[in-house]
Amino acid sequence: DPDMAFEATRVLDRLISAGHEAYWVGGCVRDELLGRSIQDMDLTTSAEPDEVVGLFDNVIPTGIQHGTVTVVSGSFPFEVTTFRTESDYEDHRRPQDVRFVKDVREDLRRRDFTMNAMALTRAGELVDPFGGEADIRKGLIRCVGEAEERFEEDALRMLRCVRFAAVFGFRIAPATWKALLRKRQLLRYIAMERVRTEMEKIMKGPDPLRGLELLRRSELLSFTKTATPWQRISAFSLGGLNDLPEEQRWGLLLLAGGFEPEQADVVLRDWTFSNAFRVRMLRLLEWERAVAAVSPSSADEAGLRREWISWLIRWGRETAADWLAVNGSLSLEYRLVAHTRGIVSMLEAKGRDWTDDTSIQQMKDLNITGNDLLGALNRRGGPWLGELMTRLLLAAACGDIANEKEQLIEEAKRVTEVEKA
Ligand code: ATP
Ligand code: MG
Repeated sequence: DPDMAFEATRVLDRLISAGHEAYWVGGCVRDELLGRSIQDMDLTTSAEPDEVVGLFDNVIPTGIQHGTVTVVSGSFPFEVTTFRTESDYEDHRRPQDVRFVKDVREDLRRRDFTMNAMALTRAGELVDPFGGEADIRKGLIRCVGEAEERFEEDALRMLRCVRFAAVFGFRIAPATWKALLRKRQLLRYIAMERVRTEMEKIMKGPDPLRGLELLRRSELLSFTKTATPWQRISAFSLGGLNDLPEEQRWGLLLLAGGFEPEQADVVLRDWTFSNAFRVRMLRLLEWERAVAAVSPSSADEAGLRREWISWLIRWGRETAADWLAVNGSLSLEYRLVAHTRGIVSMLEAKGRDWTDDTSIQQMKDLNITGNDLLGALNRRGGPWLGELMTRLLLAAACGDIANEKEQLIEEAKRVTEVEKA
């Protein structure tokens, strides 16, 4: 965004004209060299935080004790961080001791990977003490300094390593990979929320399969705070993963992993996913379970259509679409071992049409109310009423009866008569 670059340059100029050093740094320098679009521009400076605060009108003291303030310029926020070193990492995640320093190279040394440890001057010169540019050219992720030490300081770096490898399609340098395998048990110190954030970046990237392959080979996810049985996810069932939209990729992962809804519920809570996302995934797994539970006797087309519409009523159209997409991505091998294969091919062939042709799906679509029924049947309310209405809804949705008040009442009477008899 040229407007953002313009504003960032103004911030740099202000710092420089006040006698300080100032650079673009980290992810934005890397992304520029990679030719990727830049989301946010971070700046680093020799000015101490209170000096930065004094130079700008609109400043938010984001993490002022660690040397970071947010300068807002032309409505763009920029993180401006004072050159600093870090030491005495507590519990393999947070530096206890942050010291401001005068040399940008000192600051770059604390950063995780060579490609993230570069700064760019106002004039466009690269400050690259660890060979980040060369590593980018080679497509290589490499720790700054001793890899084992760096992972020990902050265990999240191991997941970042895998994430960058997956998102950029890079290889991991042998020494870095070896260190990752040796230090992977430290991942248990990292909050699941941060683990999830990295996983989300892998999953929405261009090649989540590559990320999952690296996670499988490193077994990193078995060492998180709440160990997740991801190892059950057999790579061979995931062939179509990269072609799905993000949410459905997660759906495929859970489904191919053979997670029951109850297990997935625990996992998704552990991973601090939002309620809305968890519900969406659970509905998909419920749908899959219903498919697997179809009895062979109702497996003809009419019977399956009925089942499908009843699922549509329970879990909604989004879940129908999720199931069709995810199911279509499961490789053949997965369904070969499942006994439901014939049923599944029928659902695959017809499900979309059955969904589109179903116009009545919720109680409010039904042309009758609970009160109408109470009056017509002359009964007191009770649990029977909900059951009856669900039945009417299914009958109307399937087209067995018309969605008209009189026909619905007639059907209600017929059903209750049959039940009495
Ligand atoms: P992205 O924003 O695409 O997720 P990024 O590299 O910009 O990737 P940020 O979290 O925005 O990641 O961090 C900005 C910079 O701060 C990084 O480029 C890196 O130099 C440094 N950094 C971030 N996290 C760590 C860490 N855990 N250990 C060391 N340095 C880090
Ligand atoms: Mg960033």
